[in-house]
Amino acid sequence: MSPVGAPRWRVVVVGNGMVGSRFANDLVACLSDDEVSAVEITVLGAEEYEPYNRVLLSEVVAGKVDLAAIGLPGADDDRVTVRRGTEAIAIDRSARRVITADGAYPYDAVVLATGAAARVPDICGITDQAGGLPRGAHVLRTLDDARGIVAASVNARHAVVIGAGVLGLEVACGLAYRGVPVSVVHGGASPMDRQLGTDAGRVVEASLARLGVHTWTDARTERVRTDRHGRVCGVELRTPDDAADVPSSGAAGGANLVDIEADLVVLACGATPETGLARAAGLAVGRGVVVGDDLASPDDARVFAIGDCAEPPEGGTGLIAQGWDQSRRLAAALASAVRPREDAPVGGSTATGRLPDHRPAGTGEGDRPSMALRLATSAVVRPVAPEPEPGTPAGGAPARAAVTGVDVVRVKAVGLEIVTMGVSGAARAPEHRALTLSDPASGRHVEVVVADGRLVGATCVGAADVGADLTATYTRRVPVPADPAHLLLRPVAPPPVQAATPTQMPDQTTVCQCNGVTKGDLVACWHDGARSVADLARGTRATTGCGGCRDVVCGIADWLAAADPSDDGVRDTAASGTAGRPVLSPHPQRS
Ligand SMILES: Cc1cc2nc3c(=O)[nH]c(=O)nc-3n(C[C@H](O)[C@H](O)[C@H](O)COP(=O)(O)OP(=O)(O)OC[C@H]3O[C@@H](n4cnc5c(N)ncnc54)[C@H](O)[C@@H]3O)c2cc1C
Repeated sequence: MSPVGAPRWRVVVVGNGMVGSRFANDLVACLSDDEVSAVEITVLGAEEYEPYNRVLLSEVVAGKVDLAAIGLPGADDDRVTVRRGTEAIAIDRSARRVITADGAYPYDAVVLATGAAARVPDICGITDQAGGLPRGAHVLRTLDDARGIVAASVNARHAVVIGAGVLGLEVACGLAYRGVPVSVVHGGASPMDRQLGTDAGRVVEASLARLGVHTWTDARTERVRTDRHGRVCGVELRTPDDAADVPSSGAAGGANLVDIEADLVVLACGATPETGLARAAGLAVGRGVVVGDDLASPDDARVFAIGDCAEPPEGGTGLIAQGWDQSRRLAAALASAVRPREDAPVGGSTATGRLPDHRPAGTGEGDRPSMALRLATSAVVRPVAPEPEPGTPAGGAPARAAVTGVDVVRVKAVGLEIVTMGVSGAARAPEHRALTLSDPASGRHVEVVVADGRLVGATCVGAADVGADLTATYTRRVPVPADPAHLLLRPVAPPPVQAATPTQMPDQTTVCQCNGVTKGDLVACWHDGARSVADLARGTRATTGCGGCRDVVCGIADWLAAADPSDDGVRDTAASGTAGRPVLSPHPQRS
């Protein structure tokens, strides 16, 4: 316990979303009981809700996931105070206080985790309305947005989704799954053109058509029409001259101006980092809040930014894996800043529970390295790859190209399997060797890009199993066969890494991309007593992000249970009926 009267080190987290809420938990987990009692953590969240899994909102729209199932673990420690429905309106850096309508929160360190807002493009009928979006027009960023779209879909006769990036496709497929006829309007030459080459995009377009989604490419939204009650009733597009086909949705052609009747419009045009607080506080802001490798603002060593609002040196991805990784790193670094230092001068130590003195420069702080300096030595930087979606704001700064697995994008669209990673399509360089297997009639397109004997990119449309194998090959950076054609022909020649087969999956294979959990972590967690998928999720956090790894985790849990029959067995795996259970040592396998 902190001695009576000892000052507590105050961390204020602004934003109770996926990253801010995780950060509070990560920080508590990094501190011993004594240390945690010497720290006071306050989380301010503008939303009224407990933190929830935003990634799953498109599945809520599709009706595949219930709202009740998307809650995230909140702070489960008395020393964390969460103020829901409390918006930070300013940061007074000279007094070190975060200001809200209800009062001020003093801080020793403030962590901005304010996320991003849906980008609303400047379209006539959308941005020129008094009182915000017209009735019938929606964005998808929050739980309330998802609710609004679901409610509107009940009576919708025709929906238009503006934007055919990852989020646009997820929403379009979700609405189609609910039985609503959908048109998608996209300014690019083909859907998901940030991630996919044109050929792959065309296959996606054909697959969308089979799902009842008409795609307008190279199209500009001129106007969203509203009726006399201010309700959305149509969308006018400008299309290329050769795009005269008129969908059966009731659109009427005319030169290259197309008028589509629509009573529901969803804007899926990217997201913009929430930087208002930082900007008003005089901190450097680019696309996001500028931070260094230590996640601190270059203007103020007490202000940090993580998650979608941050702009680290490698660029923000808008993907949750990056935010959760930053959360872990910052929590570890702040915890070590609070921890007693063995080399601390007498009286400057926290060994008795006293916290470091964080008086501003000029008031005695000069004898210690600044917090930022200390953090810089402990923060680990992982390179992040370019061009993220979903949640990626349009026009984002290109990030450093790198192959790490954090740029694996999996589309969660009902009826449409797409996974992409690394380099693809037009982004290929001359030294890249690319092989493609394209079968538009069956909705299948697989492309692998190889350089220096490694897989540096892959695109899989309509080929989930191949996608899983290639993801494993890509994230592990294992050598690929001399003839990369083998990567495409899974049924003919097994690839070097079989992601779906736990027995042959090396320990280092990353199973959960969002949380960076490997097969080895899952096996270790099992050996520590986990006996179900829920236990594995609690112990490692696998499956708690986008959920795309759930089948693999179920398979691993089945395999572990079968391999160790003395255990009670798997109690809640969805995959407990998996055929052909292997009988193998459950002990970690090295590759
Ligand atoms: C529909 C959808 C699908 C997605 N799918 C994927 C996916 O498949 N894979 C993936 O990796 N990522 C996906 N993302 C992106 C992912 O959700 C984000 O990367 C993640 O939510 C970022 O977390 P965050 O905490 O930084 O921001 P957020 O989750 O947006 O949380 C920010 C919080 O801060 C609060 N806040 C803002 N300003 C203030 C203030 N002044 N005071 C107090 N509180 C404030 C906001 O209200 C919000 O609650 C998706 C996003 C959406 C919307």
